[in-house]
Amino acid sequence: VILGALLLISLVATWLFVPAQRTISYDKFLGLIERGQISKLTLVGSAKIQGEIRDNENEFVKELKLPGDRGRFSVVLPHIDNLDPLLREIRDKDYKVNKEAIDGKEKQPVQINPEEDQSQWVGPLLWGVLPMVLILLFFFFFLPRMRDPMGGAYNSFVRSPARRYEKGKTRTTFDDVAGMENAKKELQEVVEFLKSPEKFQRLGAQVPKGVLLVGAPGMGKTLLARAVAGEAGVPFYSINGSEFIQMFVGVGATRVRDLFRTAKENAPCLMFIDEIDAVGRMRGAGVGGGSDEREQTLNQILSEMDGFQPNETIIVIAATNRPDVLDSALLRPGRFDRHVTVDRPTWQGRLAILKVHVRNKPLADDVDLERIARRTIGMSGADLRNLANEAALIATRYDKNSIGKSDFEMAYDRIKMGTTREEPFGDEEKRRTAYHEAGHALCAIFEPGADPLVKVSIIPRGMAGGVTWSQPDEDQIDISQSEMMAKLVMAMGGRAADRIVFGEANSGASQDLKQATRLARMMVTQFGMSERLGPVAYRTGEEHTFLGKDIYESRDFSEGTARLIDEEVQRLLREADVRSFDLLTQHRADMEKLVDALMLNEEMDREDVEKLLGLPPSPAKDEKRGRPPLVIAPA
Ligand code: ADP
Ligand code: ZN
Repeated sequence: VILGALLLISLVATWLFVPAQRTISYDKFLGLIERGQISKLTLVGSAKIQGEIRDNENEFVKELKLPGDRGRFSVVLPHIDNLDPLLREIRDKDYKVNKEAIDGKEKQPVQINPEEDQSQWVGPLLWGVLPMVLILLFFFFFLPRMRDPMGGAYNSFVRSPARRYEKGKTRTTFDDVAGMENAKKELQEVVEFLKSPEKFQRLGAQVPKGVLLVGAPGMGKTLLARAVAGEAGVPFYSINGSEFIQMFVGVGATRVRDLFRTAKENAPCLMFIDEIDAVGRMRGAGVGGGSDEREQTLNQILSEMDGFQPNETIIVIAATNRPDVLDSALLRPGRFDRHVTVDRPTWQGRLAILKVHVRNKPLADDVDLERIARRTIGMSGADLRNLANEAALIATRYDKNSIGKSDFEMAYDRIKMGTTREEPFGDEEKRRTAYHEAGHALCAIFEPGADPLVKVSIIPRGMAGGVTWSQPDEDQIDISQSEMMAKLVMAMGGRAADRIVFGEANSGASQDLKQATRLARMMVTQFGMSERLGPVAYRTGEEHTFLGKDIYESRDFSEGTARLIDEEVQRLLREADVRSFDLLTQHRADMEKLVDALMLNEEMDREDVEKLLGLPPSPAKDEKRGRPPLVIAPA
């Protein structure tokens, strides 16, 4: 604010002191002198003359449009060398002009002032001095604090950016965490400890200092940790592991120290370190210079945790997606020795989560949450919250009073397949997309073991011209080799259709190929699904793509094996390609039917397709309805 005010003041000052003026030509200048219009002349430097007009009512002056009451002007002199003669000339002319002055006008000689005008200095002075003043101010304010490396401006770097959530406001409890009964049970002990540590000390029990929550993003790890703090009624500090790693060496460790100091001052409390793998990666495994800093930070965390006094009731909960890359020192007793896995929710879990997130949303009668929960296979808690929110948004857009079934369906489609793109596609382009998608869809229907079709659509979404979406009817933990093969066949289906119908492949299949190749490679290198390579897990680096940062892990097999892997991947993909080609050739008539129907309807679900092709409706979908009501949580 101070700097801004100073800047403003200086601007205003400049505007006030530097006269509003205009530059005129030398000829006009002489004209003004001839008419005796000039009251004052000032030399600025050696090349410029400034003057003031005596009489503003003069036509000539009006033509010049000089601003202000006493119009000021300046002239850049044409011959700098001849300044003296010029001045003399001015004086002479002036003398002459005044002599022959028109009657009634004041006869006054032009005042020639060879000194430099004071007001001229103000602008440059301000601009020259102001920055220096600002710099001095800056040092005045910040330097004293910078002298102390542990305080002041530097301090804001070192101080941990952990956010504190107080007890009172918006307290999260286990009620806000749906499902995850196992995890809650495990953490109940921690809650008890935070509530009344004496009880544990009485019997000399060692309560875990650290709990490691393991699970994919969006599974509710943060939520769970916050709920523990909420249940126990203690402050909650949260920080992300990556926030320790900063540009400056040594900041990480200092931040850790600061964080733990704050925690100790506020004990009992709960500290949450999200994505601890950012600092807790195995020591000595890093590449490049960054690892030293990380190790220091990690060591600091370890020593802080070891240094808890028995009366300091602090629980550290850390979350990670990759427990396998953590340094073993982190997992030793007395540190993060208790592990709680947060799994992907089953449909019962999803139902419970949905119920939490529609708590304050009015639902229409036709909404069947159980059905939604069953269909939303593979979705995490965060996805489901997103689903409920999207549905509410869509209902709002249509100005409804409650959220209906169709809103959930639209929201689900949008999340799963992407937002639709309004694009005037030509009929030919549309038809080509329809063949491609029909290829995928028919493979999903006729290839045994393929995931059942959910929807096939030729409405452009995101990058794609159309979408075929299939997924298992039920939660699936493991996938068999034949199911994977069926996935490959389905992925190849679009391309096979292109080739059958148009006689050649087109670029629209590139994403399909990418996905298929990735899956085939995993089948060969990780699931031991190739005879020639045998039941061996090869480290190819592919699995580390989740890590993002450390892709630099060397492979652990020979050149020969690498070639073999490539060959096997190719073989699997070729096989899938041939199978989809054969399958679609067999069902060529069905393909035409489906394409015609797609051109009319643009989007069809499984029932539509089955009806169209005269297939018996698959039983999976509605059979499960009409069961006794669910038991979600023990009474
Ligand atoms: P993570 O920390 O595992 O990445 P979050 O705790 O940030 O996941 O979860 C994101 C959001 O998803 C939460 O804020 C919550 O709204 C929702 N969510 C996740 N799991 C659940 C659950 N079991 N019950 C209710 N909401 C959940
Ligand atoms: Zn495709």
